[in-house]
Amino acid sequence: MLPTTIAGSLPKPAWLAEPEKLWAAWRLTGDELRQAQRDATLVVLHEQEAAGIDIVSNGEQFRQHFVHGFLTGMEGVDFNKRKRIGIRDNRYEADCPTVVGPVRRRAPVHAEEVAFTRANTHQRLKFTIPGPMTIVDTLADAHYGDRAAMAMDFALAINAEARELEALGVDVIQLDEPAFNVYLDEVAEWGIDALHRAIDGLQCKTAVHICYGYGIEENLTWKKTLGDAWRQYERTFPLLAESRIDQVSLECAGSRVPLPVLELLRGKDIMVGVIDVATEHVETPEEVANNIRAAMQYVAPANIIPCTNCGMVPLSREIARGKLEALGAGAALVRAEL
Ligand code: ZN
Repeated sequence: MLPTTIAGSLPKPAWLAEPEKLWAAWRLTGDELRQAQRDATLVVLHEQEAAGIDIVSNGEQFRQHFVHGFLTGMEGVDFNKRKRIGIRDNRYEADCPTVVGPVRRRAPVHAEEVAFTRANTHQRLKFTIPGPMTIVDTLADAHYGDRAAMAMDFALAINAEARELEALGVDVIQLDEPAFNVYLDEVAEWGIDALHRAIDGLQCKTAVHICYGYGIEENLTWKKTLGDAWRQYERTFPLLAESRIDQVSLECAGSRVPLPVLELLRGKDIMVGVIDVATEHVETPEEVANNIRAAMQYVAPANIIPCTNCGMVPLSREIARGKLEALGAGAALVRAEL
């Protein structure tokens, strides 16, 4: 009951990459980098297990950014042709690689890191891949001229990758779709179809993570424009409830998401965000327990997976570790009452 998990990323040790930064540069190269990524994975697995996290991840220690990690293995994406573009409806600018031709997966992207991670934990393992809409929104396009068509090609590439990762022993494949909170019409028009194409034929659990972003300045400013009640989920959850996705991850803690939206996901397992990643305050176990109890007014405990709101990569290691421990301890408090 109430198995805990994290949205995905964890801070990287300072010997691997510059800390508390998105898109941080690696400290090493080549074989030394690969060895350091493996060592960092052992650290984050240990930290999650020690904190009582049930469904662990490798903390995305092998990728520089949650979107571009997967794209490094993609034919048709030119990383040398970077363009500064506005992403997430111009919420912020990023130097994005350019799509210069039809996209196809050249070779397995994450197989090696997943095999390593799988071999080093007995816990259930989750692996995160960016969703098609979020990928499309984080690239400059010089080929397709049609976001839906480009997304469908990426969905096929994700599917090929996901099938291999499942065969390596991944228990949950999670697609990260923060863009679902931005392009509400497109979610209905083609976003869900793209997700279905990405998970086609998978036997493992499938999940989608939809959030309001990391706790960076641009996101905090954006959130101020969203009013007293954030209603984006009201549009997407009824569509997801009808979908073949097993689990939905959403932001709750410290946010203005009205909790009754949870009822729109009836029939799904819900990764309830009970840890706020946009604050340096480390929750107490009791605060986490209260967040879980609040969700239980709308969702049966059997369908609740206590989780973080989003990735923790921009936080300090100390704060992230504290939040992991609070998550594990807070879920244990509620579990003891049930
Ligand atoms: Zn997120």
